[in-house]
Amino acid sequence: MFPILNIMYKPVIGLEIHIELKTKTKMFCSCLNDSNEKHPNINICPICLGHPGTLPVINKEAVRKVIKTGLSLNCQIPEHSKFDRKNYFYPDLPKGYQISQYDKPLCVGGFLDLGEKKVRITRVHLEEDTGKLIHPEGENYSLIDFNRAGIPLMELVTEPDINSAKEARKFAEELQLILRYLGVSDADMEKGQMRVEANISLYSETQNQKPKTQKLGTKVEIKNLNSFRSVEQGIDYEIERQTEILESGEKIIQETRGWDEKKGITVSQREKEEAHDYRYFPEPDLPPLHISKELLNEIKAEIPELPQQRRERLAKEYKLDEKNIEIFVINKDLGEYFEKVMSELRNWVKEVEMKQKVKRDEFLKLTKFCSNYLITDLQGLLKGASVTGEDFLITPENFAEFITLIYEGKISSKIAKMVLEEMFRSGIDPSHIIEEKGLVKITDEAEIERIIKEIISKNQKAVEDFKKGKVASFQYLIGQVMAKTKGKADPQLVNKILKQQLTKLK
Ligand SMILES: [Zn+2]
Repeated sequence: MFPILNIMYKPVIGLEIHIELKTKTKMFCSCLNDSNEKHPNINICPICLGHPGTLPVINKEAVRKVIKTGLSLNCQIPEHSKFDRKNYFYPDLPKGYQISQYDKPLCVGGFLDLGEKKVRITRVHLEEDTGKLIHPEGENYSLIDFNRAGIPLMELVTEPDINSAKEARKFAEELQLILRYLGVSDADMEKGQMRVEANISLYSETQNQKPKTQKLGTKVEIKNLNSFRSVEQGIDYEIERQTEILESGEKIIQETRGWDEKKGITVSQREKEEAHDYRYFPEPDLPPLHISKELLNEIKAEIPELPQQRRERLAKEYKLDEKNIEIFVINKDLGEYFEKVMSELRNWVKEVEMKQKVKRDEFLKLTKFCSNYLITDLQGLLKGASVTGEDFLITPENFAEFITLIYEGKISSKIAKMVLEEMFRSGIDPSHIIEEKGLVKITDEAEIERIIKEIISKNQKAVEDFKKGKVASFQYLIGQVMAKTKGKADPQLVNKILKQQLTKLK
């Protein structure tokens, strides 16, 4: 056998993503949907435990949230939809079946625009979550917690439009952002509120073949991708594994594999079941759904500005760079706070404009100040906390005032750091802090000259060194002036006046 040259393997990836919806109650009963509940088997009732004779009732809010997601992902919402029973046995499934949607999902045929490509979405449907099995280490028994059983679960399936691990990660990240903007789910992957599964196959591509003649390879499904990092690493590993198998002339087995994050490998779990194994049939205890035009219009009106729209608007309105925009889009609360501060600054500029003209590029300078102080200094103080938290005391008015003080040169950047820290700690407005602590910048030239003369007379050695050409001595003298004024002297003035004074001495 000769090695076959010019064969390239291209990955084709489709994603299946489960998302726990943020509703007050469970999907078919009035038990609380509380992911923070620490005690097992608290939020349970005969309905979600699958007792015989109980009847499920559809959670309308969950249906609305799935439709809202579908509309935001450019899906069509068919007028008719229904629930089906998916039959299988598993200890975490007390009914012996899961209520899901089979051939008539709530949403079909949308897409998510990732910029460089649009990933098509096959469907988004609604089902219920299972209970949680806990396997205590070293014990020969398992425990079960039914708090999660019956929580509304949304499943989103994409077309196999993704061609790399990076793209898959980008899709998942953008989806999470959209879900959070919509408020349909917190979609925290570490908490299992968003679970990603990837279907991966490779197809061979010889250099002169047209795409249509290419044959899709055998599909392998990967589970347990519990973080964005796992999504990327798991898929990358699987692409490599399959490539090696194909290159050695062997065949890929259709199966489900689990990602082992610690070992960094995928492990075979089971061979894939076919859909008919589940014996789907229409759920006899629930009426079919009829989605009216009125309901659709109502939900459409509730859709807020989405991440991509916000990116475009921030770029247009504030001329921010891409990096800052992304921070304000991902950190939605901080982005909203930024816009509140900017609205205060606009008012301030209007007032100043009455007296003197503030030009457009000056306003952009103000915008830049504002976004940089928020992203660098304020985020540093927040240490991961949110500007919407109870402990956050700086009002947008006070932050705007703080920015104007820097802009007008009333405080140096060094003092600004101290003022911001104090604002963060106490919530007091910046003018008060500056006044109380005597932090106003010294811009009086006569005052600075007086201090410089004093420093020169006390540091004759440094002055002599400078005269001999030692540049470092100049910096030393500046340092002395700044120390004397506790950082309050205007650095530019100090620089200028010190130069003048030293030249006089020469
Ligand atoms: Zn219940």
